[in-house]
Amino acid sequence: MIKEVDMIIKSKFDKQYKSGSPLITKESLININKLNEEGMLCNLYYEDKSFAGKGYYGKQNKGYGWILSKDINVVIDEKFFYSKIKEAILYREEFFKDEETTAFRVFSGEGDGIGGLTIDYFAGYYMITWYSLGIFQFSEDIIKALLKATEVKGLYQKKRFNTEGKYVEGDDFIWGEEAPVPYVVKENGVKFAVYLNDGPMVGVFLDQREVRRTIKDKYSEGRSVINLFSYTGAFSVFALKGGATKTTNVDLANRSRAKTKEQFELNGIDADSQEIIVEDVFNYFKYATKKEKTFDLVILDPPSFARSKKHRFSVSKDYPELLMDAIQLTNVNGIIVASTNYSGFNMNKFKQFIDIAFNECSIKYKIKEEFTLPKDFKVNKNYKEGDYLKVVFVQRLS
Ligand code: SAH
Repeated sequence: MIKEVDMIIKSKFDKQYKSGSPLITKESLININKLNEEGMLCNLYYEDKSFAGKGYYGKQNKGYGWILSKDINVVIDEKFFYSKIKEAILYREEFFKDEETTAFRVFSGEGDGIGGLTIDYFAGYYMITWYSLGIFQFSEDIIKALLKATEVKGLYQKKRFNTEGKYVEGDDFIWGEEAPVPYVVKENGVKFAVYLNDGPMVGVFLDQREVRRTIKDKYSEGRSVINLFSYTGAFSVFALKGGATKTTNVDLANRSRAKTKEQFELNGIDADSQEIIVEDVFNYFKYATKKEKTFDLVILDPPSFARSKKHRFSVSKDYPELLMDAIQLTNVNGIIVASTNYSGFNMNKFKQFIDIAFNECSIKYKIKEEFTLPKDFKVNKNYKEGDYLKVVFVQRLS
């Protein structure tokens, strides 16, 4: 039996809830000590006793849980989850029909009405990510609802329970038939090898689909490319499909060499003709400066936080400096694809970082394109912080 508690909102936070924000925050609640079991349902009330919404308690770095409904009579059960999932599937009808793209997000957390839960589709197989122990308490009902709402070959999960959003190790296969290893999916006709049961990352970040397409269609023909923080080299595969002359891929992780080779070969690209460098990007900058290496297209997609032997990097503090190094690698009239998935600042702030970096280098620039999350990564209109992705194509002019 799921426990239920009445929670009172401090009056100075009324505005936050009245604006429609789905996030339940710790500092907004008066009787916080009542929240003692993740997955508890919370009936939220304003101090004047009017009803603000019903949600669940689940600790994430963002907050203490999510509002699921504004209806005082709502019952949070399998039927409730079914209606949310079904609606989400209908919203993505065009994706299910597209034979050239077989991997996408089916359920996008609070954007689809349930914060802390995402569901991704990989050509017949589904991957559920639980972002708190709280939402995981509803897993039985959610899984049943998903199996009723659509045809599922096999089901996997990722538990990202602790408040830093870290992955909990385990066997991630939970239902049905296991997918081949690796499993090959497509994105706009390009193949990706994904590993659904091999740690926190499956091999591709689906939210960059439009960016990859744009790199291929508009910015690659005849260009030399460097892909920094390259992981499996997904951007490079698209650049080469778009006519890039050569790609150089830099990533610190040992796994990146084999994974990048695999993606190239899967797409008929001779991996030996490309450069795959396993190294700290910050060391690579020094080497590139010494050798005066420059490129036409510089792709810069760092993790929000990174620690290597010598460096501690955080996007919120260090992005301008990283960009300054990237500018030095870029030919005049070349393009930098500056990307971040850090939700702590918005597009305006990101563009300020870009401005700071170019000004510091006394170099002129022009913004050519801007991207945020694609349609399948639906954002809640009352919770813009959920639109974490920011990608800007910047041309170096001088
Ligand atoms: N751009 C990639 C995703 C990047 S994920 C894509 O589109 O698929 C972040 C990557 O940065 C990881 O593969 C990680 O190994 C790498 N990384 C983290 N710190 C690094 C550093 N200091 N130097 C190089 N790579 C680093």
